[in-house]
Amino acid sequence: MSSNCFWGVDIGGSTAIIGHLGRDGSFCMAEVLDTGPCRQPAAVMASIATVIRRFDPSPAAVGVGIAGLVDVKRGFLTFSPNLPLWSGTPIASSLSRLMGGAQVFVDNDCNAFAIGALHKGIIPGTGLWLFITLGTGIGGCVISEGKILYGTGTAGEFGHMTIREGGRKCTCGLRGCWERYAGRDALISFYDGRTEPKSIAAKARKGDEKAIAAFNEYGLWLGRGMANLAKCLAPEGFFLAGGLCTCFHLFHLEAKREFESRCPNPWKVVALPDSSTAGAFGAAAMAAGKC
Ligand SMILES: [Zn+2]
Repeated sequence: MSSNCFWGVDIGGSTAIIGHLGRDGSFCMAEVLDTGPCRQPAAVMASIATVIRRFDPSPAAVGVGIAGLVDVKRGFLTFSPNLPLWSGTPIASSLSRLMGGAQVFVDNDCNAFAIGALHKGIIPGTGLWLFITLGTGIGGCVISEGKILYGTGTAGEFGHMTIREGGRKCTCGLRGCWERYAGRDALISFYDGRTEPKSIAAKARKGDEKAIAAFNEYGLWLGRGMANLAKCLAPEGFFLAGGLCTCFHLFHLEAKREFESRCPNPWKVVALPDSSTAGAFGAAAMAAGKC
């Protein structure tokens, strides 16, 4: 007999955030685990299973969101540039075994995040929308009529589209990927190569010209990539999420200017507030939606 709870796990480069969603729609955080660059996936999954089973010996289902290319049907992480130890991990079957055969569903972390935003009604259930997370990397997904489009399996890898031939080297092994110009490290590189985005933002708000210029350059590359996507897909609009969205007011004018100079599509963009639990909530909502 399973419990009433759907569990969600958001596995990132430094933490795994675990929470549960009740059938009444309430979501509660359970625990944050350290995933660290040296922690083996088997050890992290054992810790996740221990936490869930401690709260709930028979979970209804577990959803997992993780950065990288996920074979959703098999619950298998094929490749993850930002979580290299996890590439090739059969997450669904391993976690299920550790939890006495509970159902486990795995998806890309950005897709899980978007499923949560759909579940809450933040992203409309009609029309075509693009969802983009701006963090260490750039995640993305295409949402049409309330459903995520997977194509042959991994649609939405916007961060690794080539935006500059022969450009900066990317963690995926190629050069010139969009996330090297509109991800977190790019913003840092446009400033001085070491200052954290929060500090650059504080300086920009005080009128520091170098910090303002860094955000303008960031906005330019972001707007350029978004224009490419708009030309391909003509979405109703964009939802932006992730840590860099807290600085949206510092780069959106330049992003809009660049976007409008390159495509006729309307600049309709919603920046979602930063949330450390949105990924885990979305993973739980994904599990609930599949049961
Ligand atoms: Zn890349």
